[in-house]
Amino acid sequence: MSLSKFSIKEERLLFSKEQSHAWITNSPICTKIIDLDFNLQYMSAAGINSLGITDVTSYYGKPYPFSFYPKCFRDEMLKNIINARDSGKIIEQEAAVVDMDGNEVWFHSTISPLSESGDGIDHLMIVSIDTTKQNLARQELEQLNHELEAKVYKRTLELELANKQLFKQAETDFLTQLYNRHAFDRYIGENIARAKENQQSLSLLMIDIDLFKHYNDLYGHDTGDIVLKKVAYTIDTSLLRKAGIAARYGGEEFAILLPETDINAGLDIAERIRANVEHLNLLDGQHSKMNNLTVSIGVAALKGDKLNATDLLKYADKALYMAKNGGRNNCAVCIAET
Ligand code: GH3
Ligand code: MG
Ligand code: MG
Repeated sequence: MSLSKFSIKEERLLFSKEQSHAWITNSPICTKIIDLDFNLQYMSAAGINSLGITDVTSYYGKPYPFSFYPKCFRDEMLKNIINARDSGKIIEQEAAVVDMDGNEVWFHSTISPLSESGDGIDHLMIVSIDTTKQNLARQELEQLNHELEAKVYKRTLELELANKQLFKQAETDFLTQLYNRHAFDRYIGENIARAKENQQSLSLLMIDIDLFKHYNDLYGHDTGDIVLKKVAYTIDTSLLRKAGIAARYGGEEFAILLPETDINAGLDIAERIRANVEHLNLLDGQHSKMNNLTVSIGVAALKGDKLNATDLLKYADKALYMAKNGGRNNCAVCIAET
């Protein structure tokens, strides 16, 4: 290589070195160079500005990380520069320092081993980028996400509750607050299936208020409604076992499903309901034409393969007819023919 060519190359090298230096010095990225004992050899302007230091040269030769950094930052940085020095690998970290005004400043740092001589590592370069804004934005986003999740969770609960209330409303008779006919039709199917599966008896009580047309004629429809509610409440509270399902079957008729209940136990419950309604003394002898308000009840029970909704309803209806024919304020059973 001729001497002129060599000097051109050297000039270019020097020029690129100057360019690199200018770039590092003026770049917004904070660059530090430390020796293998971790003493500061160089710090770019961005680093000096971000820390609010006026005279960086007083820190040259001083141990890095600086003693005024928070302990957690120093511990993390020390661990990573030791790691970079000993492994020869590039290490990254994200940690916060506190500036001269007491503000938390986050830095993403890349610690790279340097070999100026080309003969093993002789320095470490730490390039740090201020990520405070990104961190704040991320924290804000996380906070917003939490708030959104909480709102969605609250809304879901509200919706579930509203759905449950709607479902309950759709199954409830508005006047008596017992189950309505629609709910009864569903429950009779479910209870038959369960009773068949477990080889258990299912009883059905059909309850009808006696001479209610007459009552309405005497006292008016509005008073009739109040009495209907009272009878419904008495029926419901007479069912000691919560498994019993009381529904308004229609008009002044009620149907009660009694799972795991045979005809004798069903008749006992029917008799208790009849007596409880009688003891309400709803008319209290006020009207000579009607001494008391009573109910008649038909009881049927089926088990196993014989169990089906049509027959159960048919037998309970038959029993109710018998109870009415027996003089009202009466309970009767209809046993399925074998
Ligand atoms: P029985 O002892 O044979 O059952 O005589 P009953 O008068 O009770 O039977 P009927 O079927 O002749 O009349 C039923 C009456 O029930 C007629 C109707 O006005 C009354 N009723 C049905 N639903 C309601 C209601 O929601 N409110 C009121 N107040 N009355 C009702
Ligand atoms: Mg009737
Ligand atoms: Mg009636």
